[in-house]
Amino acid sequence: MTDLRAWLPRGVDAISAWQDRYGAFSPHPSLQVSDEALADAFGRLVERLHDNYPFGHPRYVGQMLKPPHPAAVLGYTTAMLINPNNHALDGGPATAQMEKEVVARIAAMFGLPQHLGHLTSSGTIANLEALWVARESHPGKSIAYSADAHYTHSRMCGVLGIEGIAVRTDAAGRMDLDHLDEVLATGRVGTVVATVGTTGLGALDPVAGITARARAAGARVHVDTAYGGFFALVADGSADGVAQAPYAAIAEVDSVVVDPHKHGLQPYGCGTVLFSDPSVGRFYGHDSPYTYFSSDELHLGEISLECSRAGAAAAALWLTLEVLPLSDAGLGQVLRAGRRGALEWAALLEGSDSLAAYQAPELDIVTYLPRRDTMSAVDASSEALFHAAAAGDPTEQIHLATYTVSGDALAARGHRVHADAPAARILRSTVMKPESATYVPEIHARLEHLARDL
Ligand SMILES: *Cc1c(COP(=O)(O)O)cnc(C)c1O
Repeated sequence: MTDLRAWLPRGVDAISAWQDRYGAFSPHPSLQVSDEALADAFGRLVERLHDNYPFGHPRYVGQMLKPPHPAAVLGYTTAMLINPNNHALDGGPATAQMEKEVVARIAAMFGLPQHLGHLTSSGTIANLEALWVARESHPGKSIAYSADAHYTHSRMCGVLGIEGIAVRTDAAGRMDLDHLDEVLATGRVGTVVATVGTTGLGALDPVAGITARARAAGARVHVDTAYGGFFALVADGSADGVAQAPYAAIAEVDSVVVDPHKHGLQPYGCGTVLFSDPSVGRFYGHDSPYTYFSSDELHLGEISLECSRAGAAAAALWLTLEVLPLSDAGLGQVLRAGRRGALEWAALLEGSDSLAAYQAPELDIVTYLPRRDTMSAVDASSEALFHAAAAGDPTEQIHLATYTVSGDALAARGHRVHADAPAARILRSTVMKPESATYVPEIHARLEHLARDL
């Protein structure tokens, strides 16, 4: 693996050398700190950082968390030493250009014929922007999303003062098209949000079916693929790929959100929003007396709701994609490994007498539950297994996540569990790191063993 101990000083040297071209100067005394004071504080920082889960270890298979790729760390840190602001070209010409390049590559990954887009601080902000454009395009209309969509959609509808409508999901966690028909028949909907890779289950909404229905009803389509978007690189229906249809249909929609800080190997602070109709740029119209003076070209700040944004985030993504491009042979291989891990895990669960798969994984998220007769026992056993797996010797710990399901959702998937409680926690594992794939048999065997002992 790329050794950051060798590379980070090269970034520091390169930026110092560039800075020196402008002439040496010494920092103001007010900024001086002693090495002793820094060493002391730094020691305490490092100590406090130990209070974390080992997100980078293959046996951390819980939430959507992992450290960035070394190329991203190198790109980020090097650019951060200059600290460009991608709000405007005069805040960071080089990184603003890099941002346009990486955004164009992401748009091409989805097959968008043309686009207007930019990076954002997060998927939340990217979706807020897409829903805001939805409101401006179809004023007074509602936004429909599936019941399993990220909660940000209902929350942002509240922020924007738009009615949000939750459409039922089917037994695979996908938007139910029959219920969507009913919702569209009310004539109230201006935009339908399709989620390609739900945050909980990694379920893929049927984008083509949603788009056909929405268009017929005069509604727009937004795709939230914050988590699942990069699987477009391996959406070929192959053994370790993912379903082709939902991804192919993204080329036809009005807007798309994807998070490079989830499956794009980036540190937090990197989402993306794309619009297929560049004329939505008109909604952003504003004029401020103190920005945008360096060129006549479009500034990123003129097409985004956020103002200051880290140019370093664009540099990190740009450097990463230079060495791990948006292709099957590049980033695709990272995703295929996780997908293989999830499929192998699901196969092992099929043959297990103590654990059962909640449903088949469509991406790299595996959901499963201890085999129990009642909802309350499923919940208690899941919680116990979650804690037992994470306990003990650090070299054996397995870190999982939980997911809350209803009795109806369990029944819809054929789990015969007496509903003595309205909801139960089950277990959820995101196989996001390619290294986790080879640990799956060991992880599953240990969880089975612990589940039997509970
Ligand atoms: C993670 C996620 C979000 C929220 O994005 P953040 O980057 O966490 O703000 C929205 N939608 C989906 C589908 C997600 O997976």
